[in-house]
Amino acid sequence: MKTVIEMPELRYAASALAPAISEETINFHFGKHLQAYVNNLNKLIEGTVFEDDCFEDIVVKATGGIANNAGQVLNHKLYFEQFCPAPAKIAPEGALAEAIVRDFGSFEEMKAKMNAAAATLFGSGWAWLCEDAKGGLSILQMPNADNPLRHGLKPILTFDVWEHAYYLDYQNRRPDYIAALWDILDWDVIEKRF
Ligand code: MN
Repeated sequence: MKTVIEMPELRYAASALAPAISEETINFHFGKHLQAYVNNLNKLIEGTVFEDDCFEDIVVKATGGIANNAGQVLNHKLYFEQFCPAPAKIAPEGALAEAIVRDFGSFEEMKAKMNAAAATLFGSGWAWLCEDAKGGLSILQMPNADNPLRHGLKPILTFDVWEHAYYLDYQNRRPDYIAALWDILDWDVIEKRF
């Protein structure tokens, strides 16, 4: 059966994350940028060995344009699904909370490291909280469409720092955008990835 890459569903109204992320940014970022990656990927895999592969296999095995578009589809899916307008809690609980204290010292330390990774990433890319095969956590910067799956890691939390993610709302103030993301994180969703 041929693989068709579908647009994910937005779990909230486009206007619901404001002022952290405006409706205009959601409309462009989710509605135009992500839709373009999905459309490109479906076109690019047509007639290739990848058209019978599952999405994760395409993300891990592809090269060139297919890898770029598949990576961007995965990364944006993780990015948009981890937000909600009124989070029930402001920090993780349970196993993820314990692993963060074990590997970073405290939630605040992890937050500071994630903020620094996102703020200092040069050019376009993503900051990640990742889990390795032994359950260890690390924070990594990845350029362009790169993602943890291609490095044998599990993605837990991600901040998109491509300019299209924040320029309409924050212009050059990338650190302000990063700071605002913490207020809309849905830790119930993020805990389930760990
Ligand atoms: Mn993006």
